[in-house]
Amino acid sequence: MLDFDLTEEQRLLEQSVREWGAREVQPKIHDLDREHRFDRGILPQMANLGLLGASVPVEYGGAGMDYISLGIISEELEYVDTSLRVIMSVHAGLNCLSLLSWGTEAQKQKYLVPQAQGQRIATYGLTEPAAGSDVRGMQTTAVKKGDRYHITGEKMWISLADVADNFLVFGWTDLDKKKQKDPSGISAFIVERAFKGFSSGTLKEKWGILAGNTGYFKMDDMEVPEENMLGKPGEGFKIAMFALDQGRYTVAAGATGLIRACRDASVKYAKQRKTFGVEIGQHQLVKEMIAQMESDYQAARLLWMRSGTLKNKGRRNTRETGLAKWFSTVASERAAGDCVQIHGANGYSDEYPAGRFYRNCKGAVIYEGTREIHKIMQADYVLGYRQDKPTRCELPAYKG
Ligand SMILES: Cc1cc2nc3c(=O)[nH]c(=O)nc-3n(C[C@H](O)[C@H](O)[C@H](O)COP(=O)(O)OP(=O)(O)OC[C@H]3O[C@@H](n4cnc5c(N)ncnc54)[C@H](O)[C@@H]3O)c2cc1C
Repeated sequence: MLDFDLTEEQRLLEQSVREWGAREVQPKIHDLDREHRFDRGILPQMANLGLLGASVPVEYGGAGMDYISLGIISEELEYVDTSLRVIMSVHAGLNCLSLLSWGTEAQKQKYLVPQAQGQRIATYGLTEPAAGSDVRGMQTTAVKKGDRYHITGEKMWISLADVADNFLVFGWTDLDKKKQKDPSGISAFIVERAFKGFSSGTLKEKWGILAGNTGYFKMDDMEVPEENMLGKPGEGFKIAMFALDQGRYTVAAGATGLIRACRDASVKYAKQRKTFGVEIGQHQLVKEMIAQMESDYQAARLLWMRSGTLKNKGRRNTRETGLAKWFSTVASERAAGDCVQIHGANGYSDEYPAGRFYRNCKGAVIYEGTREIHKIMQADYVLGYRQDKPTRCELPAYKG
């Protein structure tokens, strides 16, 4: 049965995250953005609200919320600034939910519990300087010597690279398969910043999500205990794709929040600014842009909620989540462009948030599967060229 109403708990969550964002982050986001400054003080506040372990069960230190709640948090956070939602994507989505689904009991106790409580911050390292969409082009290797893996490689464009304590890292454990680019030779590892041979840095030339941290990390013959392999040898590619089902979900819900932010800023400005003797909101071409934002917002919200409903039921949602991510991020780019347009020259200035929305929206059209990769995936589903096979581990259904 379809139910579009939020539960009482979900409505309270929406309200409390919205109020927290407006009170604690909104007043300073302009300055953080202009100063390219990641405010670490936000993390303990997010932890106190239970956001960092949102959909991790209580027995593993989380808040035990359902997956729709994770979407609500993502939408509300990106309404304030994309940098906040990115924290949810890499920490709560890509990393924690992968550990929850694929981790051993010992790994969950050691890594998931402190992450869900917000004592440790985590991220996801798949991309490399020469391998983005084409994951099989990665160069990182993990060579087993005794009971340890020696990992060498570099990960690039990693959100929270200079902030996180723990990293979900992917590399080749089968070097013959690396030569053939057979992804069944890739494995996944839980890596700590404290491991010898690990170093990281921040990318300084980035022009969007400026209040967020994005960087690189290097692993120079870094020794990782064998018990830190996530899943079995050769399951890394499957885990990387599984993780994206969770990350993309938060990106979709977040982009929906960004469309709403563009809509609200546009409506406010359209009622203040006058041309030719009337509020610009009275001009049909301005109305058209605002109407498009409203239809995109409503459609994007339905798409991520469908995906969250499937997750709650424990059903596979790669196809639906991909569609939600693709649609909402492309729509957020349209909304942000029109938000600048409605603001006229003022949209071209950082006095108004429209320019920040415009810079922030583009990242999500690139990361977690580019627009083009998602387009191809959706066409392949429809054409029958692509089908999702069951994986050994699945995201646990929400048990209530
Ligand atoms: C702000 C930001 C944060 C990020 N955070 C993370 C993170 O936390 N962890 C992480 O692992 N990565 C992260 N990334 C990296 C991101 O996932 C990659 O940038 C993305 O996968 C695209 O890879 P690429 O940049 O190498 O582009 P490429 O793969 O080189 O693609 C370049 C262009 O070619 C197109 N293209 C490529 N292949 C095809 C094809 N088969 N058909 C049609 N067109 C194609 C693409 O769509 C794109 O337009 C982040 C990126 C950004 C910008």
